[in-house]
Amino acid sequence: MKAYKIAAIPGDGIGSEVIAAGVEVLNALALRESSFVFRFDQFDWGGEYYKQHGRMMPEDGRDQIKDHDAILFGSAGHPDIPDHITLWGLRLAICQPFDQYANVRPARLLPGIKSPLSNIDDGELDWVIVRENSEGEYAGVGGRVHQGLPLETATDVSLFTRSGIERIMRFAFKLAQSRPRKLLTVVTKSNAQRHAMVMWDEIAEQIAPEFSDVSWDKMLVDAMAARMVTSPKSIDTVVATNLHADILSDLAAALAGSLGIAPTANLNPEGEFPSMFEPIHGSAFDIMDKGIANPIGTFWSSAMMLEHLGETVAARRLMNAIERVTADQQFHTPDLGGNADTERVTQAVIDAIRGSNN
Ligand code: ATP
Repeated sequence: MKAYKIAAIPGDGIGSEVIAAGVEVLNALALRESSFVFRFDQFDWGGEYYKQHGRMMPEDGRDQIKDHDAILFGSAGHPDIPDHITLWGLRLAICQPFDQYANVRPARLLPGIKSPLSNIDDGELDWVIVRENSEGEYAGVGGRVHQGLPLETATDVSLFTRSGIERIMRFAFKLAQSRPRKLLTVVTKSNAQRHAMVMWDEIAEQIAPEFSDVSWDKMLVDAMAARMVTSPKSIDTVVATNLHADILSDLAAALAGSLGIAPTANLNPEGEFPSMFEPIHGSAFDIMDKGIANPIGTFWSSAMMLEHLGETVAARRLMNAIERVTADQQFHTPDLGGNADTERVTQAVIDAIRGSNN
């Protein structure tokens, strides 16, 4: 029987609560499928680890997980540690060296979930945002000098390469091609940012003919934010830079009901390194240890992990179970206006998996 080796990194805050729930659900799913098992290795990296060791993960951390089939990640963020340390010390320290350059963020209005938008019905918000995840505004290039003096200066330099843009553009066109509507929106800010963003637009023009059955258009990021609210049905697949897509995908998650539902895949599409799957939300310290974190974002991320592993039947079964549970208001956590707790939702998804025929 196939055994998938999964590195589970719960991280901080509600990360440990939702990853524990994810592991439970994935084990129940493996039992139901009975054609594979999971072997989870747990890694206690994150804020508490930092307080003891002065770093978010051990020096050889990446070596410890490089041969795993996939990584299931909770969140990184700690109230006592600056966000740029937690982010660069763990999440980006995995994403960048493992060349997980395609960050895929679906946003779909699941059954039973209410969108703050009044102009859409069930099934009418179904987007995938593709975020360039290896360079751009988050390349880490820049510096800070003369700290504390009036002439203190800081730079964050956006760095874009032709090869980086070409690979994310091809990935996005291919993804759009695989979806029923075959529709892609290329987002930039090429009016104000007149170098790299113009290169994005040019590369999109150059690559589009390889995907002649995909309809595509271009939008400036500010106009795109407005379009997501005023004309949500006109959108299907979206590709944007690291920063732009970061912001647009949080907006998308909110419009699709809650940050607690939204999933992410950080993909190394060539499979040279493991890919990483995580809920879009952060550590949410305000609700930590209360047992009310919404685990759906982690379950949906787990379904994306199954797709990536080639377990499409299991992925479909998990998604169906999730949708059956969200359709029932009694399983809504407080972020969705309900009063269910994490355990109740987890058990409901497990029950739906056990009782399912598909
Ligand atoms: P970080 O700094 O790690 O990004 P944060 O607390 O600033 O964390 P998020 O964790 O993304 O930001 O969450 C913002 C708010 O959304 C939280 O305060 C919380 O109330 C809510 N939230 C996020 N995720 C969930 C979830 N899974 N279940 C319920 N509520 C959530």
